[in-house]
Amino acid sequence: MMSDAVPAFDAVSQGLIHITIPVGMLQCNCTIIGDPITREALVVDPGDEVTRILELLGRHRLTVKAIVSTHAHIDHVGGLSKLRQYTGAPILMHRDDLPLYQGMEVQAAFLGVATPEITDVDQLLKEGDALRWGSFEASVMHTPGHTPGSVCLYLPKGSGEIVIPAPRLFAGDTLFAGSIGRTDLWGGSMDQITDSIHGKLMQLPDDTIVHPGHGPLTTIGQERNTNPFLIHT
Ligand SMILES: [Zn+2]
Ligand SMILES: [Zn+2]
Repeated sequence: MMSDAVPAFDAVSQGLIHITIPVGMLQCNCTIIGDPITREALVVDPGDEVTRILELLGRHRLTVKAIVSTHAHIDHVGGLSKLRQYTGAPILMHRDDLPLYQGMEVQAAFLGVATPEITDVDQLLKEGDALRWGSFEASVMHTPGHTPGSVCLYLPKGSGEIVIPAPRLFAGDTLFAGSIGRTDLWGGSMDQITDSIHGKLMQLPDDTIVHPGHGPLTTIGQERNTNPFLIHT
């Protein structure tokens, strides 16, 4: 049973509650980032297995402030409707991925799976937006290429009440450990993803911990030095 799997990373340490669990058939990393004092959390990419996500939120006594979709691929958005319904938290997504989200039956047919329930998007994200919850503030980076409306969230070390040991980047499917997102699906563009990665992500500090949409964590420094897709582009 998928729901018995141990979370890939489940830590309450150094001023931050951070839980990442791979969900669904395509094992999309769903991430919960919570403030241990105010118990407010952000949920990124609840692609599936909402019962399990709710159970983790309950276990850590977290209230969801917002649900962020890094992009509208089916494996990242399948649980949005149900999680919004159960938590009352708003759904945030970039405008340029609304057509993909609203035309979900196209992706479902492509994969040969049932079309997940679609819900309203409450807030449209754009480059430079600040997302605040608890004592955290992350900024939105519009990083098109994998999809037109792909976004990454950058959480700096912070200042004041809570300082985390290293900045963090929630990268969706734009950057992976040793790879980059595919660009052969709807609205994908190799030129755009290359610009997004070099122009924005590679401007971040080397010690930034990257949380990709699939697979293991990495850092900006590690990818800058070893990612074969970045060295030759
Ligand atoms: Zn994707
Ligand atoms: Zn994905």
